[in-house]
Amino acid sequence: MYQVDKRGFYGKFGGAYIPEILQRAVTELQETYSVVLESDSFRQEFHRLLRDYAGRPSPLYPAGRLSEQYGCRIYLKREDLNHTGSHKINNVLGQILLAQRMGKKRIIAETGAGQHGVATATVCALMNMTCVVYMGKTDVERQYTNVQKMKLLGATVVPVISGNMTLKDATNDAIRDWCCNPQDTYYVIGSTMGPHPYPDLVARLQSVISEEIKWQLLEKEGRDYPDYLMACIGGGSNAAGTIFNYLDDRRVRIVLAEAGGKGIATGLSAATIHLGRPGIIHGAHTMVMQNEDGQIEEPYSLSAGLDYPGIGPMHAHLAETKRIEVIAVNDDEAVEAAFELTRLEGIIPALESAHALGALSKVSFRPDDIVVLTVSGRGDKDLETYIKWGKN
Ligand SMILES: *Cc1c(COP(=O)(O)O)cnc(C)c1O
Repeated sequence: MYQVDKRGFYGKFGGAYIPEILQRAVTELQETYSVVLESDSFRQEFHRLLRDYAGRPSPLYPAGRLSEQYGCRIYLKREDLNHTGSHKINNVLGQILLAQRMGKKRIIAETGAGQHGVATATVCALMNMTCVVYMGKTDVERQYTNVQKMKLLGATVVPVISGNMTLKDATNDAIRDWCCNPQDTYYVIGSTMGPHPYPDLVARLQSVISEEIKWQLLEKEGRDYPDYLMACIGGGSNAAGTIFNYLDDRRVRIVLAEAGGKGIATGLSAATIHLGRPGIIHGAHTMVMQNEDGQIEEPYSLSAGLDYPGIGPMHAHLAETKRIEVIAVNDDEAVEAAFELTRLEGIIPALESAHALGALSKVSFRPDDIVVLTVSGRGDKDLETYIKWGKN
């Protein structure tokens, strides 16, 4: 009921709305990805790299002082400890192994906060592939160290100057590049968005997160499921990985946090589930922030990784069927939650992950509730934002 169907839909959301020129490349990917993902040789190589290169399994950490603060038992799934600092590496390792098996030599990617760009440039260096990363000029400026890292790793970073020069615009230009080079180029999408099969492909590669939560909880608690799963959603990939193996388990409540920006009623927000309507963005039918004429609205969030006017079709479907609850967490609430985690547990989270932490105060837990919250990334890239905030 929650998995993608043969035509690439989750209920009424999903599909592949693409220009004619990409038809062959997307069909090739649709026909190849499942076969490759299920093959023994892929699985072995993928899991070897996740372990030896990315550093998996990531710890499931019982956060004692944070638990005391919220009156329940909180475990943090530490994706921030992965190589390159976020969950993005899981997806990129998988997709570039797939690209290799499809005989592609040139890799392109879009990036917002730069985490997906850095992960892609990293794996391209490892696997000796050409790498071009599209990044909005606004993000190039606010995430400058990530730009420097990508260049050091040998990638070409293309600053995008259309729209408000953030993730949506970078994605447009990456798709344009793919249209010009569909033969030799593989497009590594960084989240559970885009045309079928990307949302399913990315969710399956990230599902290693919930695979690990299952055995780690069993070890620590004697049962393999929590009462709550929590994560932030930009396009939806760390959330998809966190919930993938629990979707059919009704004992598990799922609470996801989207970026409220300055508040959902202010016109400066990226809370797509709260503010969006069904429409098409980047090749998928999903919830989209749009005006009355169906033009995509410019989103706003302090967090570059959540600054996107769409959401993965899987999550749109899960929200519509009420399998997930989606809470909007504003900039100030996220930053305060980041400071709280830093002081209580000695963990500086990414600003994106801080939105998931900011949702903790909006749920009423019972003392014996077990909560697993995914810390999708580390806060090094956001230090400047945190420091500036502290001064205000
Ligand atoms: C990219 C990113 C996100 C948002 O992307 P999802 O696909 O929704 O997971 C969240 N946290 C971090 C640290 C990121 O780098």
